[in-house]
Amino acid sequence: MLTVSIPAGALFYGTTRRRLDVVFDNALRQETEKTARLVHDLIASGETPPPEYKKRCESCSLLADCLPKTMQKKRAVVSYIKRMLSHP
Ligand code: SF4
Repeated sequence: MLTVSIPAGALFYGTTRRRLDVVFDNALRQETEKTARLVHDLIASGETPPPEYKKRCESCSLLADCLPKTMQKKRAVVSYIKRMLSHP
């Protein structure tokens, strides 16, 4: 957009105070374009994908809202109601 070449960037992780240099090569640019297309398709579908707990979740700022461990448990409402009604 600004007609300048940007060959690299960096990610800085505040919690660990580590910096990761990233080279913007063709492979990364193609993967980024592909991912952007997939995200546009996902948004157009109107559906929110279920969270998938991974090690990276522990350092994610959305962990408290996303609750991937809790949301991954496939519990049916019917089971919950039966369990609640079976307790005295
Ligand atoms: S906690 Fe973060 S990384 Fe993990 S599933 Fe949720 S949004 Fe993704």
